[in-house]
Amino acid sequence: MVYDKDKLNEYRKKRDFKKTTEPGGDNGKGSDRPRFVIQKHDASNLHYDFRLEIDGVLKSWAVPKGPSTDPSEKRLATLTEDHPLEYADFEGTIPEEEYGGGTVIVWDGGTYRNLREEKDDGKSMQESFDEGKVEVWLEGKKLQGGYVLIHTGGSKDAKRWLLKKMKDDRADARRNPVSTEPESILSDKTIEEIRRELKGERDI
Ligand code: MN
Repeated sequence: MVYDKDKLNEYRKKRDFKKTTEPGGDNGKGSDRPRFVIQKHDASNLHYDFRLEIDGVLKSWAVPKGPSTDPSEKRLATLTEDHPLEYADFEGTIPEEEYGGGTVIVWDGGTYRNLREEKDDGKSMQESFDEGKVEVWLEGKKLQGGYVLIHTGGSKDAKRWLLKKMKDDRADARRNPVSTEPESILSDKTIEEIRRELKGERDI
């Protein structure tokens, strides 16, 4: 897959790469099986960044409450700027005064399948995104099964979407992984542990 740098203009404009350790987006390679990642981000408002690899970038939504495994729960998902593919492995602390300042962990991730392409109308992920209805099957460490993202109301440019678990054998209203499984799938650490470590380093 061709890596599209122009899509990352907004991402780059918001950041000073001399100050943040976030990736600049020059080395991303598409995968045979597209990836998804959910990053827990302790910025001024704690949220979960839900990202799907679509046509060479990570399409991104900020989900304040995080994803649910309960199909009766709808979670607000605000569209944010495209992120580079390398961002899927980013974990660390962005300086407070920078854009998105705070600590980021990789809360979940893996590969996904495009359900719309498989089951009904053969829509690609980009077409699904443009139509405002994305249906994916996640193969994550914490989350599995079908999830739908729906663009709600307003103009095409409105950034408000909803994230919802689909009804399938992976749905489970009793689970609540956002609170019971808070740690990173990369480092096994929680955001609080990373912050405590950083504070320790500063105090030495
Ligand atoms: Mn974020």
